[in-house]
Amino acid sequence: MNSLPDTPFEASASLDVRADFPALHQEINGRPLVYLDSAASAQQPQVVIDAVSRYQSHDHANVHRGVHTLSHRATDAYESARNRIRAFINAASLSEVVFTKGTTESINLVAQSFARPRLKPGDRIVVSHMEHHANIVPWQIVCGQTGAELVVTPIDERGQLDLEALDRQLDDRVAMLAIGHVSNALGTINPIADICRLAHERDIPVLVDGAQGVPHGSVDVAALGCDFYAFSGHKMFGPTGTGVLYGREALLEDMPPYQGGGDMILEVRFDGTVYNELPYKFEAGTPNISGFVGLAAAVDYLETIGMQRIARHEQALLGILTKRLGDIPGVRLIGTAAHKASVQSFVVEDIHPHDIGTLVDQQGVAIRTGHHCAMPVMQYFDVPGTARASLALYNDENDVDRLIAALDRAIRMFQ
Ligand code: PLP
Repeated sequence: MNSLPDTPFEASASLDVRADFPALHQEINGRPLVYLDSAASAQQPQVVIDAVSRYQSHDHANVHRGVHTLSHRATDAYESARNRIRAFINAASLSEVVFTKGTTESINLVAQSFARPRLKPGDRIVVSHMEHHANIVPWQIVCGQTGAELVVTPIDERGQLDLEALDRQLDDRVAMLAIGHVSNALGTINPIADICRLAHERDIPVLVDGAQGVPHGSVDVAALGCDFYAFSGHKMFGPTGTGVLYGREALLEDMPPYQGGGDMILEVRFDGTVYNELPYKFEAGTPNISGFVGLAAAVDYLETIGMQRIARHEQALLGILTKRLGDIPGVRLIGTAAHKASVQSFVVEDIHPHDIGTLVDQQGVAIRTGHHCAMPVMQYFDVPGTARASLALYNDENDVDRLIAALDRAIRMFQ
């Protein structure tokens, strides 16, 4: 993200938005819920829930093909969501904003439709060691299909990308670089604008997995300079089953459709089919209309609060969380990069991460445990998994206190 500040240890003032999130106001195992699992899926504010409900109750019909009023309303709502999201990420045109099911589908689309037709045996695709499986497996599949080779950029013991190694790896055999903006397992923020500049000097296209980037700071795809940027609605306080692929228009224009069906065509004949214009060429079938209405409401909500404010709040809270966790005897922090966002993974000596997760849940605290769909990260740090607390705009210092108290208690049970 372009807006994250570098000063993580200032005092954390609450953004005071908890009241907006109905799911946060419940008891779990007799204690008020503390939700520290937003990197997996973020809670939705009432305005998102209401926007979806209003659309479903009054405006729902299928989009694009109808002449009746409800179909017009649904089309307007769906297309104005596209425009909302275009502005949010500063894409140049609506043609560059493809709606998908999520980051995973967006990356698969690029692997199959952009990379596959261009790859030949001996070509290389570079990914980093800190990627989510969604930014590894689609490239492994396309390598298997084409004879291309997957090359992995190493990380260091703090969970930072080895930029010198990346520089060496980006040679004329490389057909694509696919890199995460923010690691979901480690929290590391990668210097995407610099990386894109490096790759483009060598004419290498760059896909950015932005699943963990968009919720935590303002993302400007033009300033980042990437060719593709993939992200998911449910990690940015919108509905599940919504995602976005930003792609440069000239590249998308050149790519064949990813899936065939209704809506992605202008004319179908048995002797040849004419595909629809962008972005519809990549949106076969009835889309998740209400989901994107909700996502547009989530974008409005985020912008009302302000992405810079959100980033500052989360940075301050992350500093506090990291310090408090690191002070607990027996806790090893996993992911201590100089530039981080909203995630702290850790392991506790002699206690399996799943036991930690279960014990803190008994005290009403929700964290995630396991490999976080980033098994190579676990292999690098030689751990079976980690416990991970991830922060969002609705968390505050009380949540950190509750996690620390719950952890203390869990650890004492093992002594
Ligand atoms: N990439 C990263 C960095 C993620 O954190 C995730 C989800 O955790 C994904 C990709 C996949 O996102 P989705 O499951 O919404 O497609």
